[in-house]
Amino acid sequence: MNIASHIRSLRETLPPQVKVVAVSKFHPAEKIREAYDAGQRLFGESRVQELVAKQQLLPKDVEWHFIGSLQRNKVKQIAPFISLIHSVDSERLIQEVDRQAAACGRVIPCLLQLHIAQEETKSGFSPDECRRFLEEGSWKKCAHVQLAGMMGMATYTDNREQVRREFRLLRSLFEESRAHFFASDPAFRELSMGMSGDYPVAVEEGSTLIRVGTLIFGNR
Ligand SMILES: *Cc1c(COP(=O)(O)O)cnc(C)c1O
Repeated sequence: MNIASHIRSLRETLPPQVKVVAVSKFHPAEKIREAYDAGQRLFGESRVQELVAKQQLLPKDVEWHFIGSLQRNKVKQIAPFISLIHSVDSERLIQEVDRQAAACGRVIPCLLQLHIAQEETKSGFSPDECRRFLEEGSWKKCAHVQLAGMMGMATYTDNREQVRREFRLLRSLFEESRAHFFASDPAFRELSMGMSGDYPVAVEEGSTLIRVGTLIFGNR
């Protein structure tokens, strides 16, 4: 099967409100072009250098999403064009995105990344850190950042019930935060959860954006 048919058969399994971010990291621009020609417009990358190089090679109507861990000193390079940053996990990072977005005359949509997995290696706010961050309120002064929802990664495990519990936790944090802090802000609406191995569970638990690499492009 080729990339176009992988995208089509993935799409067929999804409810219409769920968007697919095709995670193209480590795959060359020609493969992205193949997906683009099949109608795919949302692509996810996790390294700034690689993203900037690909952005220059591909059509300008691609919507690039940043999904990896983001160093503050690299925000400047993606600020002119990035459509959504999924991985904001500190106040200092939000402030830098705000500064660089202002310099470009843009408002950059961002998701708060939550640490929901039973793994030390995955980054993100803990639920309590996130509550404190929202409560403290300095983000409201970041006029060039639009908080658009939350992102999280479940534990890499065959235990589906564990994965489901983690996605449920993220969903409930999302709903709680939306009710407390964004009741009058319809832009806070995205829940980015689910990858190749666990997206069906994520969709059942309310995901609006799935980040799928391997299922579309094959192994990296
Ligand atoms: C690489 C990556 C994905 C895609 O993973 P697959 O298992 O290839 O679908 C999704 N989200 C993040 C944050 C990633 O780094």
